[in-house]
Amino acid sequence: MFDHILISRCFLGDKVRYNSETIQLKHPLLTLWHKQNRLIAICPEVSGGLPVPREPAEQQPDSDKVITVSGIDVTEAFNFGAKQALTLCRKHKIRFAIMKESSPSCGSTLIYDGSFSNQKVPGQGVTTKILTQEGIQVFSENNLQDLSVLLDK
Ligand code: SF4
Repeated sequence: MFDHILISRCFLGDKVRYNSETIQLKHPLLTLWHKQNRLIAICPEVSGGLPVPREPAEQQPDSDKVITVSGIDVTEAFNFGAKQALTLCRKHKIRFAIMKESSPSCGSTLIYDGSFSNQKVPGQGVTTKILTQEGIQVFSENNLQDLSVLLDK
């Protein structure tokens, strides 16, 4: 089967990050997958209704809440964006995703600890968690090679 891949929109150079800075990911595999029309992009936070720029937000420890640095609860928007990502995966029968590491939505092995002090802890972003629960394998900018061997099998 031909695999489409869900990808964090910011990796494609779109200005969707909280600080509106671009962080385009440049990698030969990504260039190839783009040419093959595999990539389906989403920014869960923007799809969830949040603006650009927006305040940084972090998941709070021992709760399902996501709070901005000034204390605004944005959990609902994060959850809504995650559901949009899942809907996209179901529509395109997506089995794999490439999501930005450490983001409170897209992180796959690390997230910030909720204290806004630049400390990371093991964990998954809100969208990654939902995708993983549904059996979608989430990769990051750090392990694209691992994904390349799994495609179309
Ligand atoms: S929510 Fe994900 S796609 Fe959107 S800017 Fe953050 S890391 Fe990128």
